[in-house]
Amino acid sequence: MLQSLLFVPTLRETPKEAEVTSHKLLLRGGYIRQNAAGIYSYLPLAYRIIQKIENIIREELNKIGCSELLMPALQPKDMWVESGRWDVYGKELMRLNDRHDREFCLGPTHEEVITTLVREYINSYKKLPLALYQIQTKYRDEFRPRFGLMRGREFIMKDLYTFHANTEDLDEWYLKVRKAYCNIFDRLGLNYRIVQADSGQIGGSASEEFVVLCDIGEDTIVYSDQSEFAANIEVYNLSEGEPSPDGKGTIKHAKGIEVGHIFKLGTKYSDAMKAEFFDKDQSKKSIIMGCYGIGVSRLLMAILEQHNDDQKVFWPETVAPFKVHIISLGKEGTEIDNQARALYQKMLTKNIEVLFDDRDERAGVKFSDADLMGIPYRIIFGKKVDEGIVELKKLADNTVTDVKIEDIDFTNFL
Ligand code: ATP
Ligand code: MG
Repeated sequence: MLQSLLFVPTLRETPKEAEVTSHKLLLRGGYIRQNAAGIYSYLPLAYRIIQKIENIIREELNKIGCSELLMPALQPKDMWVESGRWDVYGKELMRLNDRHDREFCLGPTHEEVITTLVREYINSYKKLPLALYQIQTKYRDEFRPRFGLMRGREFIMKDLYTFHANTEDLDEWYLKVRKAYCNIFDRLGLNYRIVQADSGQIGGSASEEFVVLCDIGEDTIVYSDQSEFAANIEVYNLSEGEPSPDGKGTIKHAKGIEVGHIFKLGTKYSDAMKAEFFDKDQSKKSIIMGCYGIGVSRLLMAILEQHNDDQKVFWPETVAPFKVHIISLGKEGTEIDNQARALYQKMLTKNIEVLFDDRDERAGVKFSDADLMGIPYRIIFGKKVDEGIVELKKLADNTVTDVKIEDIDFTNFL
């Protein structure tokens, strides 16, 4: 991709609305723009990252037998009355009327739609288990939208729902999804913890959250310094220094961002909405459910929060908007520029995701923009091109080395 064609409206000054580093960098770097409180456009750089996050999620979920679908955001009131949540959900539910004055909401989550959908189809234990997910825009009229993509009123979520004939099968799937989530967050380069959680609005019995550890997090987690014990403070109100409830170690506190939440729903929705099946012994039972969310747009910020040094961004290779950033410090028509273009063309033919800064800008501008883009490998074409040498900068370990153009190893960039 030619950088002159990429829409990246960077800012010199940090907008006052941004309080946290990742939000500042996303605005300054031309990744996102606010449309109204908690409602954002994802500009090309951000959208490339979001698509990579989504594809990692898809790969890990498809691997364990989940299939993807897409349900409507616009949901009729009837379903919500049937589940009992129309009144319970409160002001967070975005409600609206159509021209015939029929009431709708914009989905904050999709238990009602999916339960209505599968109850038509699942009538026998033979059709279970089933695992369906979507990646979609969700709406929640949050009391306090803030920190950019962290708490939006319109945001992207991956939501998965599983259906089972018995609790053993739910337990088995819950663990499978939990493992898939670990693979996802590992691949995204995150430092996170799995904590016991409160089931909140969605309901059900057991639930755990995946929490990315960082100071700007809105959640407080309590954890043992010597075991796997960790919980949201909403579940165990423990003070620092207390003995851990599992008898191992003492309690510490940490701040974190909730990026995923997994629930054993049980029969909360299937009872209310009569989603039933005939079991092996011909008895009629409610379908047992699980539901599992990942905050896709929130993840973009969480990853950035763990991958910046205040002024500069360094995206993990798995989600970076491009793999290689070629920067030419020569004007168009010079030997330096010709050589840079030649390498760019060669990389394109090898299907490397490469961005070429072909803009007629000063070196300082090119470098400061590149620092906000955080592309893992940067190749700089400068004075030494005469000797056939360029600079290769690897952001992950902050190293710069001189390399001969003909020695550049393309396999690093695939
Ligand atoms: P929170 O406690 O942060 O409000 P939640 O418990 O309401 O989250 P879930 O209903 O479990 O969230 O939604 C699944 C995931 O969607 C969350 O783990 C989170 O990553 C993401 N998410 C929830 N609300 C928002 C929001 N307002 N903006 C961006 N992402 C969100
Ligand atoms: Mg919430």
